[in-house]
Amino acid sequence: MRTLEDGQPAARRHDETVNPQEGKAPFVDLHASYVELKAEIDAAWERVMRSGRYLLGPEVESFEAEFAAYCGGAHCVAVGSGCDALELILRAHGIGPGDEVIVPAHTFIATWLAVTAVGARPVPVEPESGTYTLGPAPIEAAVTSRTRAVLPVHLYGHPADLAAVTAVAVRHNLLVVEDAAQATGARCRGLRVGAGSAPVAFSFHPSKNLGAMGDGGAVVTSDADLARRIRMLRNYGSRTQYHHEVQGTNSRLDELQAAILRVKLTRLDEWNARRAAVAARYHREMARPVGPWELVLPQTAPWAEPVWHQFVIRSVHREELRWRLAEKGIDTMIHYPVPVHRSPAYSGTVTGPLPLTERLAGEVLSLPIGPHMPADQIEAVVSTLIRILEDAPEPAHRHPE
Ligand SMILES: *Cc1c(COP(=O)(O)O)cnc(C)c1O
Repeated sequence: MRTLEDGQPAARRHDETVNPQEGKAPFVDLHASYVELKAEIDAAWERVMRSGRYLLGPEVESFEAEFAAYCGGAHCVAVGSGCDALELILRAHGIGPGDEVIVPAHTFIATWLAVTAVGARPVPVEPESGTYTLGPAPIEAAVTSRTRAVLPVHLYGHPADLAAVTAVAVRHNLLVVEDAAQATGARCRGLRVGAGSAPVAFSFHPSKNLGAMGDGGAVVTSDADLARRIRMLRNYGSRTQYHHEVQGTNSRLDELQAAILRVKLTRLDEWNARRAAVAARYHREMARPVGPWELVLPQTAPWAEPVWHQFVIRSVHREELRWRLAEKGIDTMIHYPVPVHRSPAYSGTVTGPLPLTERLAGEVLSLPIGPHMPADQIEAVVSTLIRILEDAPEPAHRHPE
């Protein structure tokens, strides 16, 4: 049995329990970043444990400064989660009952939950078919007299076209709020997500590109007054203890998470580059005519530098592709199997057809990708996929349209 102290990549260590044979690929290995940075993370952890400061102390303050600098944003306010970051931005702008917020139909449910949490109504629109992010035309079509904000999501690590979204927003006097939970480090027309004029919500959920060892999130904004209001909201609506200016909440990143994130932030660009290298390899190996599987690879807009949170392919034979990969030990995931408007949580709240969103739910398939994916696992995914694609799919497994 290998131990952590060997400094072996975690995938090796996991081989002995979860993934015992060569040539297999688990979907993700969240433990690997700890193995890589064990000495630094342990030191950070111990520093906090000994300090006696566990909330709103020097680690959070330093992380906020370092993360704002990384993004190129003026202010960072660290909060309890990505979901909270979105909700607090909306609350700080007074968005609530009677207001509409335009959201992507194709996203993780948290985007919508932030809108309903403040009492506003999410108005879903279809994504662009190439990048799966929000484009200007459907936003324009969804604007009503009640629309207050539009909430583009940088889905799978690919930024939405902020210039185009902002142009529509300016025309209709809408607030733009960016959901960058999956896109820490991405760039849009050379500008890092977080460096623009709109407030941006980040998530540090362990699975995200910059992941804590628990929940965490942040708001990055150029607006000093917004930062001040969110600072108050996250801490019971107070700036001075027991003096409550507004009805706030409790949503704080803790010192332990901040200390861990400070270590990991120093590696983020390198890790994102490793993700991009895996993505480039997948693209190279899978570039082929569409063929009987009707395979669609993820597209990158010419102005975008994505951070490959996920590598999402599409096929009308997704279920067969998935089980044939699973048979060979290649784990995949579906982001997301049920469109948000089809979830029981939102049943009856959305009318109007969303055919592309529904189609995506039946066709998308996320391949393993990550900064710590060993070469043999990348190899296993590529060679297994190529072998499967050379066979014809069984027609019976085609996804019903
Ligand atoms: C993860 C995620 C969130 C929520 O972040 P949490 O930190 O888990 O609350 C919001 N939006 C998107 C698109 C996400 O992927």
